[in-house]
Amino acid sequence: MFEKILIANRGEIALRIHRACRELGIQTVAVHSTADADAMHVRLADESVCIGPPAPRQSYLNIPAILSAATITGVDAIHPGVGFLAENADFAEMVQEHGFTWIGPEPEHIRVMGDKIAAKRKVIELGLPTVPGSDGPVGPDDDVAALAASLGYPVLVKAAGGGGGKGMKVAHGPEDLDQALSLARSEAKAFFGNDMVYLEKFLGKPRHIELQILGDGQGGVIHLGERDCSLQRRHQKLLEEAPSPALNAEERAAIGARALEAMRTLGYRSAGTLEFLYEDGHFYFIEMNTRLQVEHPVSEWITGIDLVREQIRIAAGGRLGFGQEDVRFQGHAIEVRINAEHPETFVPSPGRISDYHAPGGPGVRVDSHLYQGYRIPPTYDSLVSKLIVYGATRNECLMRLRRALEEYVIGGIETTIPLHRKLIQAPDFLNGDYDIHWLERFVAGDRAA
Ligand code: ADP
Repeated sequence: MFEKILIANRGEIALRIHRACRELGIQTVAVHSTADADAMHVRLADESVCIGPPAPRQSYLNIPAILSAATITGVDAIHPGVGFLAENADFAEMVQEHGFTWIGPEPEHIRVMGDKIAAKRKVIELGLPTVPGSDGPVGPDDDVAALAASLGYPVLVKAAGGGGGKGMKVAHGPEDLDQALSLARSEAKAFFGNDMVYLEKFLGKPRHIELQILGDGQGGVIHLGERDCSLQRRHQKLLEEAPSPALNAEERAAIGARALEAMRTLGYRSAGTLEFLYEDGHFYFIEMNTRLQVEHPVSEWITGIDLVREQIRIAAGGRLGFGQEDVRFQGHAIEVRINAEHPETFVPSPGRISDYHAPGGPGVRVDSHLYQGYRIPPTYDSLVSKLIVYGATRNECLMRLRRALEEYVIGGIETTIPLHRKLIQAPDFLNGDYDIHWLERFVAGDRAA
């Protein structure tokens, strides 16, 4: 096992990784920008190294500074967390070339899944269902109109290098196609420096359902069930739950078995997530994230498996030591993302935390780096807390979420807590009756009211 791990991230996820290390008796090294000198994970870590100014390019994305910090402090391994360098295959390779262990998947798997067209081809080869669409990029010589007609409108034009919902345009009929193509191409060029686009059938009312995978790269692979992440605003998840209110046990077992087969063939190591759209009983793969996910705690709670601990054990050469038949799903868990943002306009609200009281009691977990007096810097992601609740049933979980949201006090800044308090009263949500477009309509309706 490792003696010392460097955590190449910040915020709540850095704290989450620190906690797993502590429980394994492993020392931690925090790296931080000048804006994060007072951060909770920096205070708790055994050692800390300032790696640069606030701008991510100069600190959390500064590979030479991070590798130097690792060398100076003599760590055995590096955990990249979520975001920043977590899905940078070149960084993963450099970590290994410098003699450290990379706590994550094979760089080659990060690379293939990071390219949307390559990823889609790969999973088709591995036998997973994908959204019907073009076989690879569509170019000027292709008869795109014929292809779109054969898929059936509406169709979605997507950027090959896309991410964060950018470079995606819907064509509702043949008359929209040229415009959708040129808009998607120019957005793709502007954001990703690559104007390659491809075509997919646009699904009208899907749910976003993803499967948590854990592999040891030595033949052992399990899944920890699904998470329903359909409650999104601008393709950003705001609430996640497990299990999905839309799936039954047979559907779960069926997609789980196909995913395990695919991941075993790939020889996948570490934690990963297969993201699907789900509509009318069918699953369609959209992408794979080759890293830990923000919403991992809901899967941890319904299975009792600590994903970060397992990532570390596996990176140290350990085997899973148990199979799918040993994974027991129990109860229901919901995570709400609390962002430092105005609950109606979503304008970021950095600043000093004047009061802080986190909820507690049975079935409540708070993953947050906040404390009274902490100043949230304006430079980074606005996620400041994850409130995760557990109940024996979905109903118990919902009641618990309601009372935990009542208890939560974050003073001095605006947060999305009031939005979640409204959400928890909405009949559609309470009934589990929502798709990926539902939250946008809910937010818009709320503002109009
Ligand atoms: P990104 O990498 O930009 O996040 P994804 O392919 O993961 O792009 O898609 C992001 C979101 O866009 C999905 O969660 C879903 O809400 C929507 N989306 C993607 N593909 C389709 C599709 N074929 N039909 C309908 N919605 C889609």
